[in-house]
Amino acid sequence: EHPVLDYVEQTKASQAFMEEAESVMPGGVTANIKHFAPHPIAMKHGKGARITDMDDNEYLDYLLSYGALMTGHGHPHIKKAMIEQMEDHGTWLFGAPHELEVKMGKKLQELYPSMEKLRYTNSGTEATLLALRVAAAYTGKHKVAKFEGHYHGGYDQMLVSVSPNVKEAGSVKKPNAVLESKGMHSSHERNTVVLPFNDLESAEKILRWHKDEIGAMMIEPLQSGYIPAEQQFLDGLASLAEELGILLIFDEVKTCFRLGLGGAQERYGIKPDLTALGKVVGGGFPVGIVGGREDVMEVTSPNQGADVFDSSQNKNAKASDVLFHSGTYNGHPMIMAAGLATIEVLEEEIEEVFQKTEHLKRELERVFAEAGIPMKAVGEGSIFSVVLTEKETIRNYRDLQETNLSMRKEIDMKLLQEGIYTKPLNRYSLSTEHTWEDIQTTIQAYERVLLKR
Ligand code: PLP
Repeated sequence: EHPVLDYVEQTKASQAFMEEAESVMPGGVTANIKHFAPHPIAMKHGKGARITDMDDNEYLDYLLSYGALMTGHGHPHIKKAMIEQMEDHGTWLFGAPHELEVKMGKKLQELYPSMEKLRYTNSGTEATLLALRVAAAYTGKHKVAKFEGHYHGGYDQMLVSVSPNVKEAGSVKKPNAVLESKGMHSSHERNTVVLPFNDLESAEKILRWHKDEIGAMMIEPLQSGYIPAEQQFLDGLASLAEELGILLIFDEVKTCFRLGLGGAQERYGIKPDLTALGKVVGGGFPVGIVGGREDVMEVTSPNQGADVFDSSQNKNAKASDVLFHSGTYNGHPMIMAAGLATIEVLEEEIEEVFQKTEHLKRELERVFAEAGIPMKAVGEGSIFSVVLTEKETIRNYRDLQETNLSMRKEIDMKLLQEGIYTKPLNRYSLSTEHTWEDIQTTIQAYERVLLKR
């Protein structure tokens, strides 16, 4: 028995498909994260909590498109809302202000009181990118601070120290800024300041040193969606940000809705200056949202300066007097409809998703304990990860690197053959469509993999 050979045997159609895909896309994928060895599984159908691959293998889906699908695949309420939107309004895109972007905005203002004003984008990446521009425009300071191991999107400014090789990463207390892509300019090593997560004392020293240049500090309140910031760490950062004139930005692209309808900020009782949302809030369609303090968000208003496209209005105005924010699909009506319908489903069902997640975490810890493998189910709300470690707590990226990643990967490959899907080494996200029976099926699959070795 060999997990990789058995996997290849089970996914022959995926393997053949990936060869064809390589003739179109480098590596056969359109996002590097979707690739894994020996080849990823190509999918063709999804319904509820289940997803079917090209070999007709059916899986319980715990990847859920990297957490975006909190109501599972093809939810009827969301489908209905989109069809109604199309039928009632004739079109699916106005390219002009419309009702649903305001309706969604009001709902978000209610759930996220820190988001006094907001703007829409097309992805989480665009949301964090806009948040940084807003912060720089407001503070006049252009360096940004981020935390080691945190992901905010694939653009240069933030693609620093996301998953650095530990040898390159330098000191734990003062991490190096490690560029994570070919093609990046070395200026990002200086303009992006990397802070250690859950180490207030060290973060404070670095922030004070650069305080005159840093306009924004962005953080995932739960690193990778599951490693929680300690309360006094976040409280400390919030007061430091205020003292040093740095805007605190919560990147809640992963955590919004997955941690509660009010996201991490509700749990921690912190009002960030700016927040970026994404994933679940689009109901499985591309979306991003940036919101925050009214005085800060006002910098995006076209009323702040002269019309950039009509310089005849004010001959002395410069284009850079106005913050530029645009996007053909921003606030797309169909996506607003899908997002609002998703919120409606979650308002009814979110608590039960949390109960199921908690149960699954505890049961998996039991199975691992029975197998004699030290494991912690690390996470909150509806996301967690299976972390193979003897450590009492996992506090940051470095702790995670010291866990048994190779055994975890081996177990994940076997679970794929048992019909439990997540990309190897990825976290688990649950949906409203995972039933108690599905949870039981999952626990039994783990028992087969771990106890019958
Ligand atoms: N921020 C966080 C915390 C994320 O998890 C992600 C995506 O995984 C992003 C930003 C980027 O979002 P998107 O993939 O929608 O561009």
